[in-house]
Amino acid sequence: MKALDYTGTQVNYFFVCRRKLWLFTRDIRFENENEYVQLGRLIDEYSYPRKKKQIEIGKIKIDFLDNKQGIIHEVKKSRKIEKAHIWQVKYYLYWLKSHDIEHITGEIDYPKLKKKEAISLTEEDIKAFEDIFAQMKTVLDKAIPPEIINKPFCKKCAYFEFCYV
Ligand code: SF4
Repeated sequence: MKALDYTGTQVNYFFVCRRKLWLFTRDIRFENENEYVQLGRLIDEYSYPRKKKQIEIGKIKIDFLDNKQGIIHEVKKSRKIEKAHIWQVKYYLYWLKSHDIEHITGEIDYPKLKKKEAISLTEEDIKAFEDIFAQMKTVLDKAIPPEIINKPFCKKCAYFEFCYV
């Protein structure tokens, strides 16, 4: 896959678990069966009904765009894997910048926690993406999935039964 062909979810999963990235990319999915994933969708759907306007551009799907402020929003339910959320939003900003859409910033909204976090894309981030994309390619070129990672959050992962049972 080329850099800008990734979805935000794939970039997110790269930071969460490389095995998850590998499985998801091969369309091995159990998302509908997992209650935590369903909870995330519900929060996503009902948190900002008036402002919300999900937009899809190419491979990226942005939860909603605040047109007036020029801010893209990503809605998440917890801050447990915040690094993954941050890089997902940075990827959206990177993708937009690569398509000449500049002067946009990002925000992660945690409606359950009543918190939000501003996200921007720096020159260092742009350089970091070269390495991130190279590492994602290495993971996805593997013939077999990467090893199980044995993290506490595995219990809430849609692939838990697939990995451990
Ligand atoms: S259960 Fe754990 S090891 Fe398996 S895909 Fe999910 S995060 Fe990765």
